[in-house]
Amino acid sequence: MIVVLTGGTGGAKFVEGLRHVVAPEELTFIVNTGDDLEWWGLYVSPDVDSIIYALAGRLSKERGWGVKGDTFFCLETMKALDEPIWFHVGDRDLAVHLLRSKLLAEGKTVTTVAAEIAAKFGIRSRVLPMSNSRVETRVDTPSGELSFQEYFVQRWYQDPVKSVRFAGATEAEPAPGVLEAIQQASTIILAPSNPISSIGPILAVPGIREALVESNATIAAVSPIIGGKAVSGPAGIMMAAQGLPVSIAGVTKAYEDILDVLIADDRDAAAAQKLQSSGLRVHCTNTIMKTREDKIELARTVLAACESKHAATIKQR
Ligand code: GDP
Repeated sequence: MIVVLTGGTGGAKFVEGLRHVVAPEELTFIVNTGDDLEWWGLYVSPDVDSIIYALAGRLSKERGWGVKGDTFFCLETMKALDEPIWFHVGDRDLAVHLLRSKLLAEGKTVTTVAAEIAAKFGIRSRVLPMSNSRVETRVDTPSGELSFQEYFVQRWYQDPVKSVRFAGATEAEPAPGVLEAIQQASTIILAPSNPISSIGPILAVPGIREALVESNATIAAVSPIIGGKAVSGPAGIMMAAQGLPVSIAGVTKAYEDILDVLIADDRDAAAAQKLQSSGLRVHCTNTIMKTREDKIELARTVLAACESKHAATIKQR
């Protein structure tokens, strides 16, 4: 069994490769819900949806979120009705938000709802939100505390970040199936997602990080940082705010108690050499996922690196 901890952009691209390389029944995804929001009165779970769309082969490649070929008639109409439209929602995507909100209003949990939606998309892998409780990523800036979507989408991550916290995390519990999946996994992959705002909330749910520390699985992370910069988005800004170097060393530090193998980009070969000499197994490859082939090749390489004997023997614990 392979377990992947993921957000919704770099993570979703990685998932698009992995689904071609591993049988769906062998894959479980533990997905960040710290970015969830209420929008137009609906409950929206952007990362869960991106993973579902990626697994179904329906994620928009151009946008990196939402459904391929979607239209935006509802958005245009909401604009004409003077409603806020800074969080873009396509018409097909909207149907999923309507369905999720309807099922939640019937009293179902986010886990049950994610499973039902995934099944309707024909997905045979397990898509598990990290928790049934609400855990909210909050970004502290000089203009005050913002939700992740306000900081990232509405304000284009232009505000300086003082710190990041996960409201509700200490009282949250892992969603049903999360700890069991970690315990049963032979390989666990931290997708190339934002270490602070995508993997951070998952690790902040009490019990998840501990289960990873206890796990006998090989735990690999794919760096979202290449050449001292995030490939996209605010990962670098957020890592710096949390006191981490914006480098593959910083990614390693974020995961230091759980990591066995770091997959870094070829461009970071020199920094990788340094990390390797400190005892961590580091594997360099092309980690930029532009084409379908890049994604498949990266998924293959990560799995091969996890399977290598060396990887399994050097544990950082
Ligand atoms: P979010 O939920 O939208 O924040 O998405 P993720 O956390 O899953 O993905 C954001 C991270 O993906 C950013 O930190 C990027 O640096 C990283 N990323 C995006 N595309 C790529 C890529 O092609 N390769 C790698 N290595 N990282 C990527």
